[in-house]
Amino acid sequence: MGLAERHSRTVDLTYWRGRIPVNYVYTTGRAGEKFFQRVVNGKFAAAECTSCGVVYLPARIYCERCFARIEDNYVEVLPQGRVHTFTVCHRKLDGSDSDEPVLIAMVKIDDTDGGLVHCLGEVKPEEVYIGMPVEAVFEPKKQRKGSILDIRYFKPKK
Ligand SMILES: [Zn+2]
Repeated sequence: MGLAERHSRTVDLTYWRGRIPVNYVYTTGRAGEKFFQRVVNGKFAAAECTSCGVVYLPARIYCERCFARIEDNYVEVLPQGRVHTFTVCHRKLDGSDSDEPVLIAMVKIDDTDGGLVHCLGEVKPEEVYIGMPVEAVFEPKKQRKGSILDIRYFKPKK
């Protein structure tokens, strides 16, 4: 089927097997930029809505609940939280088997209404539980680039 081919009956639809190369650039936006500027320094930036009290992490420029502008209401929060949910992955991103299971968690960040999806480290799958207190482990400061990968993983907080 060519791109210019027309169908007038849905029962005649076919499919095309192949690969479509997709290139994209993810932009973090103004609030995301503030968040990653703090990550470089080993901290997290949230945005607080003074109208309804929601604290967004990652930061936003508008409140999703009441539409108030919150771009100037950045607050610094500690890079720590609790495991909200998690999964154990036994396959790599390419679908091949993984030698070691990888723990992926949604971490609800303390003093915010938000959180981050990231890896857990320094913990075995059978030791993880919902509500487990964790803290971010950052890459060495000289290696940080203002990326989510500046956070190596979250580890259990002692
Ligand atoms: Zn609000």
